[in-house]
Amino acid sequence: MHCMYMRDCDGMPDPAQRDLLMRQEASRQTGGQIVLTAAEQKLDAYLHRLKEQEMSAAQFPPAIHFFKAKHLIQRSSIFKLLQKMPKGAALHVHSSALVSVDWLVKNVTYRPHCYVCFTWDSSVRFLFSARPPPPRWDCFSWQLLQTLRGKLGDPTGFDNSLMQHLTLFTQDPDGEYPNQDVVWEKFEKAFIAAAGLITHAPVLRDYFYKGLEELHQDNIMYLELRSGLSRTYELDGTIHDKVWTLKTLQEVTTKFTADHPDFLGARVIFVHEKSLKVKAAVQEAIQLQKDFPDVVAGFDMVGREDSGRTLWYFREALSLPAELGATLPYFFHAGETDDEGTDIDQNILDALLFNTSRIGHGYALARHPLSKELAKKKNVAVELCPISNQVLKLVSDLRNHPATVLMSEGHPMVISSDDPSLFGTSGLSYDFYQAFVGIGGFKANLGTLKELAANSIRYSSLPAHLKEKGHVAWETKWDAFVADNCC
Ligand SMILES: [Zn+2]
Repeated sequence: MHCMYMRDCDGMPDPAQRDLLMRQEASRQTGGQIVLTAAEQKLDAYLHRLKEQEMSAAQFPPAIHFFKAKHLIQRSSIFKLLQKMPKGAALHVHSSALVSVDWLVKNVTYRPHCYVCFTWDSSVRFLFSARPPPPRWDCFSWQLLQTLRGKLGDPTGFDNSLMQHLTLFTQDPDGEYPNQDVVWEKFEKAFIAAAGLITHAPVLRDYFYKGLEELHQDNIMYLELRSGLSRTYELDGTIHDKVWTLKTLQEVTTKFTADHPDFLGARVIFVHEKSLKVKAAVQEAIQLQKDFPDVVAGFDMVGREDSGRTLWYFREALSLPAELGATLPYFFHAGETDDEGTDIDQNILDALLFNTSRIGHGYALARHPLSKELAKKKNVAVELCPISNQVLKLVSDLRNHPATVLMSEGHPMVISSDDPSLFGTSGLSYDFYQAFVGIGGFKANLGTLKELAANSIRYSSLPAHLKEKGHVAWETKWDAFVADNCC
C-alpha cells in the first residue's frame, strides 16, 4: 500500500511532528512557559553541562540517602550555584528545627545556668535554672553543664554526643533507622530534647535571629514558620504565654529586617499537635490571627500523619471559623504517606475541601487524580520537601519521588526544608538541589528554578501589595544572579 501522508502510516514518524510534541510536553512542566533571556540561556546551558557531569558520575547524590550524599552535594558545582541563587521564601519550616544543632550545642549549651539530664530512654533534657532543678518523672539527676564539662577529658566528643540527641543526622542512616517507626521515634525525641534549650526566653530571641540569619545567608528573603508558640521560661521560673512568644518573634523579625533591609520578614503558621483539643486550638488560632493579622498567617496540625487522626475526624473543629463567620487560613500537612487507600490517604482531599491555602508535602497527591485537578483549579501549591521525605523513609531514590509527575505537569509547587536542623541541612539549597537534579532530572532547567523561586512569593500568605514588593525585590536579585554567573 502506498502512503499519501507520513502520519497515516506505520513507517517513520514525522521528525517535525515529533519535535513539536516534545516541545509541547516540555512546555507543561514547572517553568515550561518561561521564556529565558539570552543571559539566562547561557546560564541554562552551563547548568545543563554540569548536570551531565553529575548524572554520569559514579555516585549520583539524589539516589543516595542524604546523610551519605551531603558531602558529595557540598562539592557539587550546581549546589554552589544554587546557594548563590535568590530562592525567594521558605514556606514550610518548623520552629523547633530552624537552627543548626551545631549552634545549639556550641553556643546555647555553653551559656551559664544550663543543666542537662540523661533520661532512662537514652535521650537528653536541658533546662536553664538559677538553682539545681528538682528531679522530674523523666529526669532524676540534673548536672550543671559547666561543671560536667570541667570533669570531662574530651569536650569535643561530649559535644558531638549532645548533637546526636538533637538531630537525625548520622553516618549510618540505614542501620540506625531500619523503618519509619524507628526514624519517627528518634524524630520526636529530638524535638523534646531541643525544647528545653529553645523555650528559654533569652535563648528564643537569639535562636530565631540566628534562624533568620541562616536563611538570609542562603539567599532566602522571607519565611513562613510553623510554630506551636510554646510557652517560654525565664531563669527564675517565670512562664510566658503564646502571645509573648508571638510578640517576641515579631520583635526579632523587626530587628532582623532593620539589620538586613533586603529581608522581607517572617510570618507564623500556628500549629497544633493532632490531639483531642483541636477545637480549643482552632479558637485560639482565630483569636491570634485577629489580634496579630500581620504576623499570624493561619493554622495547621502537626504530628506523624500515618499514626494520627485524620483531618476528617476533626471536621467539626475545622468548620468552626466558618460557623463563627471568622477567617482562618489553613496550611495543612496532608498526604505525607506511602499508604494508599487508607483513611489517612484522604487527607489531601479533605484539606482541599477545607480550602487549605497550600498542601504540606502532598506526597500522595500524584496518585489522587481528582484531588490533583481540584488543587490545580484552586491554585493550591504543594510544599515539596524532598530531603524530609527521603529521611523519613517515604522514598529512597529521589528520582522515584512522585513529585516527578507533579513537576512534569507544572503543578503549583514550592520547595522547602521542613526540619533543617534534624536533617543536617541549612536554608533551601540542599532541597533545591534534590528537586532540580534528582526529581527534575535533565528536564528541569533554569526556567524550572526561576518558577520555583517565584512561586515561593506567589504562594506565600503575604497580602497582595507585599507580594508585589517581594516579587520585584526578588526579580532584581535574580537578574543580578544571572548576570554574575552566566558568562
Ligand atoms: Zn512539616
